[in-house]
Amino acid sequence: MRIVFIGPPGAGKGTQCGRLTEEFGIPHLSTGEMLRKTERDSPLGKIVASYIDHGRLAPDYLVLPIVTQRLSEADCSQGCLLDGFPRTVNQAEKLDQFLVENNWELDVVLNLTVPSEDLIARLLRRAEQENRVDDTDETIAARLEIFRNQTAPVLDHYKQQGLVKSIDGSNSPDEVFELIRQAVS
Ligand code: ADP
Repeated sequence: MRIVFIGPPGAGKGTQCGRLTEEFGIPHLSTGEMLRKTERDSPLGKIVASYIDHGRLAPDYLVLPIVTQRLSEADCSQGCLLDGFPRTVNQAEKLDQFLVENNWELDVVLNLTVPSEDLIARLLRRAEQENRVDDTDETIAARLEIFRNQTAPVLDHYKQQGLVKSIDGSNSPDEVFELIRQAVS
């Protein structure tokens, strides 16, 4: 099972990804997490931080090798859950290429939707709880704007391939997961 999971920041992807990976026994590839893991004091880490701390997308020359390397590891041979990637149409095209080269296909692209007022409230709450550097008023606005401008077109890209299933993410986590399970099966 190969799943791409798309949703704006704060939609609850993290929670659902944990459940999905358990249910399907596939690895969870979160590019946000991979990028945050880069040692902040290293030269590369400083470059990465200069993007993510301001809610801007890290450049493809950094993101693409991290993802393709991870996808080439043995545990991804039977499937994976891609969370936070692709985030631009260019990344989606690069992923298409990589999939073709490996004779792989995506099974589904999940689109988790939540009204934007709810997203902002959820993100501000998370900022208090988790202390993430990129959960401030300003970066939240920047990330939502990037989602609208750059990531929403990725959905159109996959709609053309007939892969998108939209899920209403405003329900409780259990209800959302049930909708996801129905969409995937
Ligand atoms: P969220 O979706 O809640 O904003 P993520 O953990 O998915 O959080 O991403 C955090 C940050 O990591 C993003 O704001 C961006 O700076 C960077 N990032 C994650 N994935 C990508 C990607 N595919 N391309 C470029 N930058 C990315």
